[in-house]
Amino acid sequence: MITLRRTRLLRVADLPDFRRTISVLCRGAARRAVLVPSRAAAIELTRTLVELNGSLTEAPLVLTRDQLYDELHARLERPPIRLSAIEREAIAQAAAISAGDRFAPLPFQIRPGLVVEMMRFYDQLRRQSQRVDRFEELIVDSLGSTGRGDRGVERLLTQTRFLASAFRAYERRLIERGSCDEHLLRARLISEPARQPLRHLVVSVADWIADPAGLFPADFDLLTRLPHLQSVDIVCTEAVLRSGFHERVRRWLPGLEEGVAEVSGRLPFARPTLICPATKDGSADLWHTCRDREEELIAIARRFKQEGQSEANFDRAAIVFKHPLPYLYLAPDTLGAAGVPYHLSDALPLAAEPVAAAVDVVIDAIETRFSRNALIALLRSPHLCFNDGASVQQAAIGALDRTLSNLRYLGDASRLEALARNWPNDRAAKEAAPALQVALAAVRRLLGFLEPAAAADQIEQLAVLLERHFRPLPEGDPLAARELRARVIILRLLRGLAAAHAAHHNPCWSIDELGAAVRRLLGQETFLVESGTGGIRLVDDQAARYGEYNDVTIVGLVENEWPDEPRRNVFYSSPLLKALGWPSEKDRRAAADAHFADLLQSPADTIALTTFTLDDDSPVARSLQLDDVSRVGLPTETSDLGTDVATTSDPLTEELLPPDALPLPAHAWSVMRTSRSSAEQPQFHGQLGPQASRSWSVSALETYLACPFKFFAQHVLRLEEEPDDEEVMDPRRRGQLVHEVFEQFFRTWQAAGYGQITASNLEAARRMLTEVVERSLASLPEGEAGLERTRILGSSAAAGLGEAVFRMEAERPVPVVERLLEHPLRGRFVMETANGSRVVELRGKADRLDLLADGTFRLIDYKLGWPPDRTRALQLPIYGVCAEQRLAEHRGDRRWMLGEAVYIAFGGPRRVVPLFAQPADRDEVLRAAQQRLVDTLDAVDRGEFPPSPDDVYRCETCSFAAVCRKDYVGDV
Ligand code: SF4
Repeated sequence: MITLRRTRLLRVADLPDFRRTISVLCRGAARRAVLVPSRAAAIELTRTLVELNGSLTEAPLVLTRDQLYDELHARLERPPIRLSAIEREAIAQAAAISAGDRFAPLPFQIRPGLVVEMMRFYDQLRRQSQRVDRFEELIVDSLGSTGRGDRGVERLLTQTRFLASAFRAYERRLIERGSCDEHLLRARLISEPARQPLRHLVVSVADWIADPAGLFPADFDLLTRLPHLQSVDIVCTEAVLRSGFHERVRRWLPGLEEGVAEVSGRLPFARPTLICPATKDGSADLWHTCRDREEELIAIARRFKQEGQSEANFDRAAIVFKHPLPYLYLAPDTLGAAGVPYHLSDALPLAAEPVAAAVDVVIDAIETRFSRNALIALLRSPHLCFNDGASVQQAAIGALDRTLSNLRYLGDASRLEALARNWPNDRAAKEAAPALQVALAAVRRLLGFLEPAAAADQIEQLAVLLERHFRPLPEGDPLAARELRARVIILRLLRGLAAAHAAHHNPCWSIDELGAAVRRLLGQETFLVESGTGGIRLVDDQAARYGEYNDVTIVGLVENEWPDEPRRNVFYSSPLLKALGWPSEKDRRAAADAHFADLLQSPADTIALTTFTLDDDSPVARSLQLDDVSRVGLPTETSDLGTDVATTSDPLTEELLPPDALPLPAHAWSVMRTSRSSAEQPQFHGQLGPQASRSWSVSALETYLACPFKFFAQHVLRLEEEPDDEEVMDPRRRGQLVHEVFEQFFRTWQAAGYGQITASNLEAARRMLTEVVERSLASLPEGEAGLERTRILGSSAAAGLGEAVFRMEAERPVPVVERLLEHPLRGRFVMETANGSRVVELRGKADRLDLLADGTFRLIDYKLGWPPDRTRALQLPIYGVCAEQRLAEHRGDRRWMLGEAVYIAFGGPRRVVPLFAQPADRDEVLRAAQQRLVDTLDAVDRGEFPPSPDDVYRCETCSFAAVCRKDYVGDV
């Protein structure tokens, strides 16, 4: 059936003209549809059409590409059964397994995740109008000429034949079932009449190369052949056409008419002003740099408050991001708390909903065989309840966490049951008892999932379990409706997956397979979130093209987001994909730059750009697209977004609206924020003011030198570090073990009458150390004991720590007369400083003091890692000073002098590291350390605990990163 149609390309100068052209095409829009990239874009366009055209009595259909197929399917006289994505995946799994049997052994495993990638690849092929046979032919031809006999090539050939065979099997199964997917539907749409045909279509997206949500060659082909479609108008900006789309669209649509859209009611060359920050030297950067994403929103809130914008102005402003998360989550605490009204409407990943995380927690607990961390997360989940609705105190869960860690519980239901039968009787264990009972109940309930079972049964069982153990939602909770909606979607998806597997493919699944399938299922689904009715629009860059705004701020301009990273194809390299018609990265990047340039010129009045330097506390680089801003040539105006003080003040405490005028959640936030102290106060930056003097351990003061805030968290707040659940020992436990082993060895050595370790008794020392080590390791699991044994005693490949200790002593000529092991140094000591002598109160314990026959002593400190930087070291030199004072009366009236101080370091390139390179340096090293010590004590007494590590990389492994708000912004 041939329908005469008019296919036009309407070229527009920029996005304001783009919107006006669409609005003109939609006037009197009976049976007209507009194709947009996303549901959020549809919302923005509908709003714009109302603004430009007045009320929409004959509103056009505003559809995404998927919705267009749904709509066309629904309009067929006899619509075929259309498979859901879940059903397609189940059929594709069965097809892949049957194809895999033909090509066994395959060089890879057919996992459900791989089948998803296969279907993504299949869809892409078919949308690019490739047939399966042609795909196989093209790849085999390309590979055939590059070298048969090569193992890599043979592997690719097998993969290609497997994929082609699986795709054919999938297509056969679809036809056998009388059902269709998007590709079979396209054929039906072209050959069958519709009950209510679509007559006019306005296409406002480009192709898939220029637009991630754009049309493919097969879609363009459909538009040229769809019965009764009379006109297709493609509206596109000049910039996007120039990026390569113009050449391509003429290929997709031969005979395309072209014209420049006539747009009235707009001043020619009207361009927004770029709001730039003022720099210290008076020049202007073109973008604002914030600390992180939260501060970007705070800076915008501050600007709106400073400018005293009216509500009408809020409605004409937009914040534009590439990805909605985490901006949509940050909005209530920033814009909302400042009383800046905002409106958001976007499809977020369902997996980002808190209740979806609860499903993950359940699966994680089973997959890890109930490891301590996973079990504790299960008990702490606010969405789940394994206690018949009663809640367990968080303190009891915390106590259970500590007790299980102390008992070295690493998982396994039978081990937990055994521990419960012999539960300790100490205070923490008693406090943990109620939580233990709930943990046991949860484990018993989940144990059955460890037995492999039919996929449909496993999924249905999971849905039943969740339904039963979702915690009842409290009445009056403002978030209950959203949570309920998410729960309903999750259960519906799980039951849909169970039904798809029961109908099409029902293999036996382990918990790992169940977990992977459920995570993928939730990860693919989106969840429409909408809030507020007016205010600043929070939209992504695709939707922003459709909104009429006066003021736009583009946020999150960092690398890998602007532009987005391309999705990698897991099957073929770029040259092979090119043979199949895949676009080049150059074309994609050119289109992304064109969209960005369009967006810069989209608002009527002003535009501002922000980037940031820390993402989840990790440094990030700004977007390279910012380099293109100057080329757009916008007029500029200098105005401070407030980013320079964003880290030191809370703009949200400055009143904009009286709290009573705000809606409920914003009101609560506003009251809370305005009633609390200013973030500029020194307390928020580690300055607590004078503290009462007290005695400190020298090792704690050494921590202060590494990072004052870490010292504060550890020694003033006494925060405990999270226990680790490693199969091997954590550094703290290993440190204890090594110290205990060497203390025990030297005590036994001395008790046996040995003195100095020399070449002649080295063998005896080795035997004795072996015995001591074996005794210490007896209670450890074999794997862990083996590692520690090798570390201390060495192996045929490398010497152990013991050898380093022995050799260091055997090489020294002066005999040892006595050893003081784990020697306490406590009380008042005199430190010599630049301002004279000063008495300080200290605590410490020297690992080892060897008193030598010449009246000197050797001080030894075991270090598990690298020795500290000598210019920051405290423990060894200060112990040396303190020991000289304490040993004054030891063994008669002899005066013992520090002769040598060494680190025996088990990390770094050298085992034995002296504190001072030569005796002449001794006095200077000790003098500097004493000065450092009193300076540190003074800083502690002044209450100065800024988060300023001596090395920023320290933060990567710091246990207190979660409670530390670092002040530095990538410039340390
Ligand atoms: S995270 Fe960094 S700044 Fe914060 S306490 Fe740890 S080391 Fe100090």
